[in-house]
Amino acid sequence: MREKLLQKFNELYGKGNDDRVYFAPGRVNLIGEHTDYNGGHVFPCALTIGTYAVARKRDDDKFRFFSMNFEELGVIESSLDDLKPYKEADWTNYPKGVIWAFAEKGMKIDKGLDILLYGNIPNGSGLSSSASVEVLTGYILRDLFGFEVTNQDLALIGQFSENKFNGVNCGIMDQFAIAMGKKDNAIFLDTATLKFEYAPIKLDNAKIVISCSNKKRGLGDSKYNERRSECEQALAEIQQFVGIETLGDLSEEQFEMYKSSIKDEDRQKRAKHAVYENQRTIKAVEALKNNDVEEFGKLMIASHDSLRDDYEVTGIELDTLVEEALKIDGVIGSRMTGAGFGGCTVSIVKDDAVDEFIEKVGKAYEAKIGYAADFYVVEVGDGPCRLQ
Ligand code: ADP
Ligand code: MG
Repeated sequence: MREKLLQKFNELYGKGNDDRVYFAPGRVNLIGEHTDYNGGHVFPCALTIGTYAVARKRDDDKFRFFSMNFEELGVIESSLDDLKPYKEADWTNYPKGVIWAFAEKGMKIDKGLDILLYGNIPNGSGLSSSASVEVLTGYILRDLFGFEVTNQDLALIGQFSENKFNGVNCGIMDQFAIAMGKKDNAIFLDTATLKFEYAPIKLDNAKIVISCSNKKRGLGDSKYNERRSECEQALAEIQQFVGIETLGDLSEEQFEMYKSSIKDEDRQKRAKHAVYENQRTIKAVEALKNNDVEEFGKLMIASHDSLRDDYEVTGIELDTLVEEALKIDGVIGSRMTGAGFGGCTVSIVKDDAVDEFIEKVGKAYEAKIGYAADFYVVEVGDGPCRLQ
C-alpha cells in the first residue's frame, strides 16, 4: 500500500526527500446511537480500514490536494489565504477546515502542503470517512509543523472544523473514536464529560460484519438536525420539573416519571430513545466485561428496534439488512450504525456463519431493494499513525 501511494504521489507532485505516509482509521459504533448529542454514552471502535495519506510541506503558501477516491476531480489547488469553504472545493473542504481550525486555535500554519488521499472505507455510509480525513489532516499538521497537541485535541479540532467550517452539527463521537482508537478495544465514552475507558472486544469465535446498504444519506438533507432539536425541546420540557443537564442524566424510571411533561407524542418517543439507548449502552459494556456476548447482542437488537420505532431513523434498507441478518443462525446481534436513513448496519456473527451471512443477506437485500449491499468483515484497530 505504502509503495503504491508514494508512487502516485510522486507521479503527481514529483519526488521529494521527505514524503511521509500516514493512516487514520474509520470507526464503527457498536451501540449508543444518537446519544452523543444528548449527553449520553457511546461505544465505538476504530477499524483497520480507513484513510491513507502522503504529505509533504511546501516552501510557499500553496496547497495541492488529490484523492484517489475522487480522481475525476484531479488536483484541487488552494492557498493559505483561501481558507474558506465553498462548493467547488468539494471534498477538500474537510482538510481545509482542519487547517483553518488549527489557526483558529492559535496554531498558525505558515507553509502550504502537497497531499494525496486514499480511503478504503465507504464514503457517506456512517463509518465516518469525514472524521477519518479530519483526524488524519490534524495528525499530518502536528507531525509536519511540530504542534504540541494530544490525540484528544485532534478529535476536538476535527469536530470543531466539521461543525464550524463544513456546517455539519456532529457530536464528538466520530473524531474521538478515530483519534483515540486502540487495537482490539472499543471506547466507552461519556459524551457529556469526555471521560472514557477502553473495553476489550473479546468476541470468542465471532466477527464484526458491516453491511453497507449503499443508500446514501448525507447528514444535511436527512432528519438529523430535526431529531437534535426535538431532543433539545424535550429536555427543556423535562427541565421544568427536574434539575438535569442532559437526557443522558435520566434513568429509565425517572424518564417514566417525568415523560408526561413532554407535550408532543413524537418528541416523547425521541427522548425515550435517548434515555433508554444510553442505559442500554451502559448495560452492554457491562455484559461485554462479563464475557456475555449473547446479552450484548440482545441489546444491539433492542437498540435497532428503538431506532426504528421510537427515533424513526432507519428506513426499509437498514431494516431489511437487520431482519435478514437475524434469520441466520450464528448471528448474535445486528443493528443500524451511524446517523441512519441509509449507511450501514453492524452485526456480530459467529465465524462459521460469516459466509452464509454475506450470501443470504446479500441475496435477500438485492431482491427486495433492487441493488446490492456491500459487506466488510472488520478488525478493531489503532488510532492514527505515520507509516514507516
Ligand atoms: P461519512 O463520514 O459517514 O463517511 P460524510 O458525508 O460525513 O460521510 O463524509 C463523506 C465525505 O468526506 C466525502 O463525500 C468526501 O467529501 C470526504 N471524504 C471521505 N473520505 C475521503 C477520501 N478518501 N478522499 C477525499 N475525500 C474524502
Ligand atoms: Mg461524516
